[in-house]
Amino acid sequence: MTQPAIVLSIAGSDSGGGAGIQADIKAITCTGAFACTVITAITAQNTQGVQAVYPLSNQQVEQQLASISKDFKLAAIKIGMLHSASLCRLVMQFVRNHPQVPVVLDPVLVATQGQSLAQLDLLDALRELMLHASIITPNLSEAASLLACDKANTSQEVQAQGQQLLRMGAKAVLMKGGHLPAAQAIDWLFMAQHQAKSLAMDWVTTPNNHGTGCTLASALASYLAQGHSLVRATEMAKNYLHQALLSAKDWQLGKGPGPVDHCFAQRSC
Ligand code: PLP
Repeated sequence: MTQPAIVLSIAGSDSGGGAGIQADIKAITCTGAFACTVITAITAQNTQGVQAVYPLSNQQVEQQLASISKDFKLAAIKIGMLHSASLCRLVMQFVRNHPQVPVVLDPVLVATQGQSLAQLDLLDALRELMLHASIITPNLSEAASLLACDKANTSQEVQAQGQQLLRMGAKAVLMKGGHLPAAQAIDWLFMAQHQAKSLAMDWVTTPNNHGTGCTLASALASYLAQGHSLVRATEMAKNYLHQALLSAKDWQLGKGPGPVDHCFAQRSC
């Protein structure tokens, strides 16, 4: 009997279907794994922005985590929006109870369009959770927040900040440099005792970039769950996101920046 590897996504719900849990389920499913979810917050949201955030209680999150751990053999965990330090600490305890399971931490602080998805006390708790993740996937703003410094403006600064995150205790860091002016979309992978590796892809010119961080981190968790190495899983996840961006390049699902096409492979068959 063959059955899919199980990936748990711990994240917020995006009613617009482009980011958060909704993006995660689609990305995990379409890259070949099975998605379970623990929802941390409900957002009222569309392509134009986030209208409201309703965090779930500690008890509600704790019960979801307990249900999952009692029944499923997890092959990877992907963590997105945590909203508060207290929810972050609950999740940290869960991760510490599953030391063999690879963990991808996307340190979500703000939505693509700038609205905050985190309380002020989350940062310190994220710095602690980071120590228990197999890899963290910050964008340039999130990396700067974790390091309490200015956002990197050059590829040299991106590299210095990636190394600094390793020194703070991260096991591996995928720095998403997608907003730097460059001919290609370049991300950097940092792993302790390894040379930094740059991963370049051609730019996709599109307004539809909502949920790209969630999608990349979920695809990465899915490929790790299926037994790929960190480097290979990262390359495969970046390639998956590139194709998902291309396929939705001209979509106009709402009035603002829309999502990527997670299911491009299914659509074309
Ligand atoms: N998680 C939730 C629930 C969100 O609503 C968002 C953005 O709106 C994110 C995470 C982060 O999205 P992105 O992948 O665009 O960074």
